[in-house]
Amino acid sequence: MNMNIPFVDLKSQYKSIKNDADAAVANVIENTAFVGGPIVAEFERKYAEMYGVKHCVSVGNGTDAIYITLKMLGIGPGDEVITVANSWISTAEVINQTGAEPVFVDIEPDLYNIDASLVESKISDRTKAIIPVHLYGLPADMDPILRLCKKYDLYCIEDSAQAHFAEYKGRLVGTMGNAGTFSFYPGKNLGAYGDAGCVITNDNEIAEKIRRYANHGSLVKHQHTIPGINSRTDGLQAAILTVKLDHILEWNNARYENAMRYNELLADVSDICTPVLRPGSTHVFHVYCIRTERRDDLSAFLREKGIASQIHYPTALPFLDAYRYLNHNAHDFPIAYEYQDQILSLPMFPELTREQQEYIASNIKDFYTRR
Ligand SMILES: *Cc1c(COP(=O)(O)O)cnc(C)c1O
Repeated sequence: MNMNIPFVDLKSQYKSIKNDADAAVANVIENTAFVGGPIVAEFERKYAEMYGVKHCVSVGNGTDAIYITLKMLGIGPGDEVITVANSWISTAEVINQTGAEPVFVDIEPDLYNIDASLVESKISDRTKAIIPVHLYGLPADMDPILRLCKKYDLYCIEDSAQAHFAEYKGRLVGTMGNAGTFSFYPGKNLGAYGDAGCVITNDNEIAEKIRRYANHGSLVKHQHTIPGINSRTDGLQAAILTVKLDHILEWNNARYENAMRYNELLADVSDICTPVLRPGSTHVFHVYCIRTERRDDLSAFLREKGIASQIHYPTALPFLDAYRYLNHNAHDFPIAYEYQDQILSLPMFPELTREQQEYIASNIKDFYTRR
């Protein structure tokens, strides 16, 4: 009998917090606290407190969070920003948005994150910053990156959109660089019911600049000290996120447990590589990514069996049409190039049941034993 397993199940999570979520939304409407105000301020306070940082500045989405941070660090035309070859397009396009140029670095075998050992060779006298991405929920290897930032006087912005509350050697991701940026897109580990994002930092000056720029260049009504933009988290999103903050750590745990169960269920399938942990780091499994030579066939087979899967990402950033102008080829990023045809993300969400995982694993085994 076929089961139907979605890639993420936002409905079952909503059901588990329905009373609190509905009350929080009603409260925003009752108080007409739609943009800004105490509900947004309370979310920012709580998020900063959980991270043990001085500032959380909420913005419109996770893309703006990176863009505004780069811009307020003074990055612009003529500058270069180093980032990773495999990520969501946001990480790279915001560099272009400032007028600077992205410089890509290949990924680590098996761990899918920026290969820190290749970063130094990409540093030029135009380099201003490095954006490591904690991809799939696994922290990037931060120590060597932070050492390079110190040595060459570069900013470090941690794109933490996929890794809320993941830890690297006991430090929360987002707290190690000059700033950490987050997305609260609905499907992220901590997801709003619409677009939202934030920047966390301990730097008073950069926090104030970001808050000002994101709010039309203004901290005090009608005093516009610089030309800015409009990028804010609205009250409804902040209210939902505040409710969800009480659950995020247990949800991350459930994701981890589910990932370990997948690893166990798939351990004897020699045709696939299951995710590997980084010693000293936690993994919050935003994405459970496997690799197989027969990715497209497996994905089609699973679809027939009612199992959704996705690819993060089908084309590595340097090979997208958007970056064709950089004239890269497969030899520049051999691991990202090889992996883009092999990676497959299986359903992953906290509410995934043992039965669902067993169904997925037994179908994967069927696929490889049939031929
Ligand atoms: C989701 C995501 C973003 C962008 O966040 P949005 O809120 O969708 O703008 C940036 N970087 C990474 C790695 C992401 O996964």
